[in-house]
Amino acid sequence: LNSTRELQITDAAHHLHPFTNTRELNARGVRVITTGKGVYLHDSEGNKILDGMSGLWCVNVGHGRKDIVDAVAKQLEELTFYNTFFNTTHPPVVALSKLLSEVTPKQFNYFHFTGSGSESNDTIFRLARYYWQLMDKPEKTIFISRRGGYHGSTVASASLGGFGSMHEQGGLPIPGIFHAPPPSWWANGGDLTPDEFGLKVANQTLELIDSIGAHKIAAMIGEPIMGAGGVIIPPKTYWPAVAKGLKERDILFISDEVICGFGRTGEWFGCELMGTEPDFMTMAKGITSGYVPMGCVGVSDRIANVLLEKGGEFAHGYTYSGHPAACAAAIANLEIIRSEKLVDRVRDDIGPYLQSKWKALADHPMVGEAVMEGLIGAFQFTPDKNARSNFADEAKIGLTARDFSFENGLVMRAVGDRMVIAPPLTITHAEVDDLMEKTIKVIDLTYAHVRK
Ligand code: PLP
Repeated sequence: LNSTRELQITDAAHHLHPFTNTRELNARGVRVITTGKGVYLHDSEGNKILDGMSGLWCVNVGHGRKDIVDAVAKQLEELTFYNTFFNTTHPPVVALSKLLSEVTPKQFNYFHFTGSGSESNDTIFRLARYYWQLMDKPEKTIFISRRGGYHGSTVASASLGGFGSMHEQGGLPIPGIFHAPPPSWWANGGDLTPDEFGLKVANQTLELIDSIGAHKIAAMIGEPIMGAGGVIIPPKTYWPAVAKGLKERDILFISDEVICGFGRTGEWFGCELMGTEPDFMTMAKGITSGYVPMGCVGVSDRIANVLLEKGGEFAHGYTYSGHPAACAAAIANLEIIRSEKLVDRVRDDIGPYLQSKWKALADHPMVGEAVMEGLIGAFQFTPDKNARSNFADEAKIGLTARDFSFENGLVMRAVGDRMVIAPPLTITHAEVDDLMEKTIKVIDLTYAHVRK
């Protein structure tokens, strides 16, 4: 299996891909990525491609970092596997738990490990309900999440997510989940200023909660910035108003930090940028920069104290909860983020550098808005900037642009007709220039294609 063609044929014969429309696989066949170093990937045909998506928003420290590879190899030799069930632990999971207590917001000192973001959100579904059982309020079972939110692909996490396409397959959502509107100002803000619109959506969310009955609601989950929903950066007024309303109603607040965590937004965690203090955080991706699968649930002291004092055994856990190799990868990864001051770098240096160029894309006649916080951003294609309208055949333009992008050596993701970007936090100034040059080319090619 050496040639691209052989790999493509064998892949098509035996590999059922996640999130891939096989009927629409373009004529050139599936792309074969073979190596990665820093912000660049190489494919099997020798093309060099700038990974503008950090894989799936996860490779925060860039590809191929030897420190992480060595740490994982060393750990596998020392202790390949041992579990964290039944009163056992091992050194890397202890060290990682302590390290996480140092980098997460002050209320977080307890961490429960999983294998992915989906598993983290599934865990929270049980953990939040269990907490209310311990608090003698077992009627608090309902979850609030948002349309356009993405929380994973397991049964509970896909139900929490607000994607109709995912719900249609397999009869989701499971009962007990209500979806509030997303704070998408460009699409829905009309004549309101972003701040006015943020408050409006926050109020709609609290009205939904009150119509259900706050006494029945366990928790609300949300991403600080919606990622897979198209990088929806909420107006500054939105999260503080939602979080305040939840607190007043005795509803737990879960920040899904799977994308926003570990420096992506220019703070360690997205909730810090939004000015909220969640009761739980779910994490994955950037915790290991994707080198080894790992997820984690951060449990605030207030909740942990109840679990530890009133609870007994939480009958939940995964074979790979706190896998030694994943812990070793996470420790090495966090050491890189700290020693290279990547969070400060995103906030004060490379973030603003890319943002100023990126936001200027909104001057293009076919770009409705171009937004970015830290190193996570998006721009919106539109046939009419003033009307903020969508193309009739929505998502076709996005997919066309995605193909132009790949062909021109840049990975960008399409969400409908919105193009999203989240490069590694280690990207250099010269690499940002390369990214922008390619992005502008993609927009010009797409514009020419539409006008043809
Ligand atoms: N939460 C968010 C915000 C995500 O973006 C994702 C994945 O993209 C998940 C949860 C699910 O994580 P995983 O794919 O590791 O299960």
